[in-house]
Amino acid sequence: MKILVINCGSSSLKFQLIDSDTEAVIGKGLCERIGIDGRISFTPEGKDKITKDAAMPDHNEAIKLVIEALTDPETGVVKSLSEIDAVGHRIVHGGENFTKSVVINEDVIKAIEEVSDLAPLHNPANLIGIRACQKIMPGVPMVAVFDTAFHQTMPEDAYLYGLPYSCYEKYKIRRYGFHGTSHAYVSKKAAELAGVDYENSKIIVCHLGNGASVSAVKNGKCIDTSMGLTPLEGLIMGTRSGDVDPSVIEFIEQKENLSTKEVMNLLNKKSGVFGLSGDVSSDFRDLEAGYLKGDEGCKRAVDTFCYRVLKYIGSYAAALNGVDVIAFTAGVGENSPFVRKIIAERLSYLGINLDEKANDVHGKEQLISTADSKVKVFVVPTNEELAIARDTAALV
Ligand code: AMP
Repeated sequence: MKILVINCGSSSLKFQLIDSDTEAVIGKGLCERIGIDGRISFTPEGKDKITKDAAMPDHNEAIKLVIEALTDPETGVVKSLSEIDAVGHRIVHGGENFTKSVVINEDVIKAIEEVSDLAPLHNPANLIGIRACQKIMPGVPMVAVFDTAFHQTMPEDAYLYGLPYSCYEKYKIRRYGFHGTSHAYVSKKAAELAGVDYENSKIIVCHLGNGASVSAVKNGKCIDTSMGLTPLEGLIMGTRSGDVDPSVIEFIEQKENLSTKEVMNLLNKKSGVFGLSGDVSSDFRDLEAGYLKGDEGCKRAVDTFCYRVLKYIGSYAAALNGVDVIAFTAGVGENSPFVRKIIAERLSYLGINLDEKANDVHGKEQLISTADSKVKVFVVPTNEELAIARDTAALV
């Protein structure tokens, strides 16, 4: 089956056409600046990337351009729209309504709308993507794959905040977790690579990208993860603060004479390794280069980031009552031997021994712990699009 995977943001739309039988990517691309001016880039399998400016007043137009790119007689990858068997949509927040992927119908759309206040930046954009596809591709089955679904197995003691219980009862304020598609895919793959039974295993996944989260996966089910009601909680990220004392918000509001919205913007967009470095960069390539040159801000940012990861690994080893496998994934986790080394060297209490030579790996599956390491440590490239395509194919 040919599955179109759509990841729709407020002004951008990423797409991949995947053959679910061979799991090959047939073509992939990105629409940017939707509602502003518009640009589409498309890479057919094995060929060069094509980029062109094209008016994209809304997402309907963006989807039309995606279909045009896929079916272009010269550079396209399918003859007609009818070759696309199904569409898989990445949906950020499923709230408590969705514990797994589902075929999209009007009830599903309504349920996604109902939890939109939990992800006001993301869910409305995801819904626009669904509506646009329904309009341009009527009759093609569509599936919603939720970032939160894998974490819905968290027990109550892991997902509740220490707030009045009525906050949960009235508003469903609780921890949900994100990057679920990645944590599910990577934990399963790591078990496979380690030769352990997924249904009988203790795995910690460190998804370290621009957004970053850790999860504890026991017997194939998530029992805890570091992101919360929103993706702001947990690890220090590219520009997000991660965990802070909530009193910090009021304190900054008063000291800097800012509104709550402005402080939230500071926590989401100006903090993390970017803010810690003194606004040098949110990109670990820049931070590592600065660190090695002795830049204090870069060192501070990377060390503080790594320390937070270390603390989460420790707490999840406790939550799991042991750990068999640790997997590093996403942009930083897959590509930074530097960051992995700083973290892994401080895990000797778990019996972890890093194989420095093996650790010198970028973006491919590899065991990076020594043969005598008590816990196996892997680099496992994530592939959220493939996971979405697999779920979509299975459901339609
Ligand atoms: P992601 O959000 O998973 O796409 O990860 C993006 C981040 O990965 C970038 O912002 C960089 O910080 C990081 N990254 C990508 N390539 C490298 C690399 N070669 N070394 C260190 N960090 C990298």
